[in-house]
Amino acid sequence: MSEDQIAHEPAQVAAGVGSLGVVLVVDESRLVGELLKASLAAQSKLQIISASTLQQARELISLHEDRLLVAVVGRVLRDAPNGEVVDYVCNANIPAIVLTASWDLELRTATVSQRNVVDYVLKNSPDCIEQVATLITRIERNQSIGVVVVDAEKQSRSPTVHWLQALRLKVYEAESGEQALAMLSKNPEIKLVVTDFNTRSMDGVQLATQIRRKFRRQDIAIVGIADQADRMVSARFIKAGANDFMHRPFLEEEFACRVIQNIDLIETLQALRDAAIRDPLTGLHNRRYLFDAGEAMLASAQRGQVALTLAVIDLDFFKRINDTMGHDAGDEALRQAAKLLRSAFRKTDIVARIGGEEFCVLAVNMAPEAAAKVFETVRSNLADLVIRVDDYKFQITASFGVISRFEGAMAEAIKQADELLYQAKERGRNCVVLQKDAETK
Ligand code: GH3
Ligand code: MG
Ligand code: MG
Repeated sequence: MSEDQIAHEPAQVAAGVGSLGVVLVVDESRLVGELLKASLAAQSKLQIISASTLQQARELISLHEDRLLVAVVGRVLRDAPNGEVVDYVCNANIPAIVLTASWDLELRTATVSQRNVVDYVLKNSPDCIEQVATLITRIERNQSIGVVVVDAEKQSRSPTVHWLQALRLKVYEAESGEQALAMLSKNPEIKLVVTDFNTRSMDGVQLATQIRRKFRRQDIAIVGIADQADRMVSARFIKAGANDFMHRPFLEEEFACRVIQNIDLIETLQALRDAAIRDPLTGLHNRRYLFDAGEAMLASAQRGQVALTLAVIDLDFFKRINDTMGHDAGDEALRQAAKLLRSAFRKTDIVARIGGEEFCVLAVNMAPEAAAKVFETVRSNLADLVIRVDDYKFQITASFGVISRFEGAMAEAIKQADELLYQAKERGRNCVVLQKDAETK
C-alpha cells in the first residue's frame, strides 16, 4: 500500500500483541514491586517481575520481551545513576512509567519528551503506587480498544500515533474523513477518534458531524485538534459533537490525560448501560432488556423477516434447594443453569433471567421441528448438571413452555408460553411442553 493510501491496520495487531501480561519494575527498592503486586492483585492477573539494577533489567527484558506490557522505572540506580535505565527501556520499545524522587521542569522535559515514556510519577507522593497501578490497568485494558488518528499530514500524525501506541491502544491512521468513517464502520473496537481540523475530503469539524450521525457520544469519543491560530475551531468542534478539544502545540501529558479521561468515560457509560440491562447474579440479560430488544425482534418477525421461538423456563421445586442447602447453594445453581442456557443458544438469541428462578429464551430462525429437539436436549443437560457448593452436591430440573407461533406484544407471548409451562408443571415437571403438544392434548 502506498503512503498516500493510508488505511493502516494497527501495527500492534500485526505483531500479535493483545494480551501482554507482564509488568517490569526496575527500582533500587524491592518495595515498589511488592506494593505494586499487592495493589494489582485484586484487579488484574498481570505478572510483576522486578529488577534493581540495569544489568538485571536487561536480562529480564531479553527473557520476557514478547510479553512485556509496560515497565515502571526508577531514574536512579546503582549501576545507572543518570536515567540510563529509562533510556534502555524506551529504546527497547517498551512503554515506561518513570518514578522520580523530585520534579523540575528540566527533568520533566527530558523525561516526557522521550519516546515511549507514558507518564512520570513522584515517588514521595502518598498515592504513588495507586497512581501507577491505575495507569497500568488502564494500559492493560487499552489493548482491546481502537483509536483512529485523522490528519492529512503524516508528519503531524506521527507523534500522536506514537503516544497512543505507547499507551498500548490499537492505533489506526487515516488521512481523510472518509477513511476514518470507513474504519469506524468496520471496527467496533474503535472507541476514540483523534482528529485534526486539517484532514482530506472533509475537515475535522465536518468529520465530527458525520460521526455523530451514526455514533453517540457515549459510544465513540471525539477529540479535535487544531493549530493555535484557529481560535474559532474549538467551539465549532464541540458544537459538532466532539467531546474534547486541544490546541497545538500541547503538552504530551495533557494529551495523554485527556485521551485516558475520554476512554474511562466511555467505559463507565458502557458499564452503566450493562448494569441496566443485565442481571448481576448470572450476567444474563434482564427482563427489561428482553422486553426492549424482544419487541424489535417481534416486529421483524411480524414483517416475515425472521421466525421466532420463545421459551419460558422455570426451575422445579427451587424453594426446596434454598430451604435445605441455603441461599448460596441456590445462587450457585442459578448461575450454573444460566451458563448452560447461554451456551446452548446462538449469540443472536436472547437468553434472559426474567424472575427469581425463571428464564426466557427468544431464539431466531429455529426451525419449528428443531425446537422440540433443542429444548429437550437443554432440559436433559440441565438435569445432568451436578452442582457442588461447600459440602453439598445436588442436581436440578426445569420445566419448559415453548411457542413458535404467536401474535401481539412480548407480554402476550410470554403469557402464552407461561400457560404451556404451567401444563409442564402439571404433567410432573422436568419436561418440555410445545404449542402443538398442548393443542393435541
Ligand atoms: P415449582 O416447581 O412449582 O416452580 O416450585 P418452586 O419451588 O421452584 O417455585 P416457587 O415459586 O414456590 O419458589 C421459587 C423459589 O426461588 C423461591 C425463592 O426462594 C427462590 N429464588 C428466587 N430468586 C432467587 C435468588 O436470586 N436466589 C436464590 N437462591 N433463590 C431464589
Ligand atoms: Mg420454580
Ligand atoms: Mg417460578
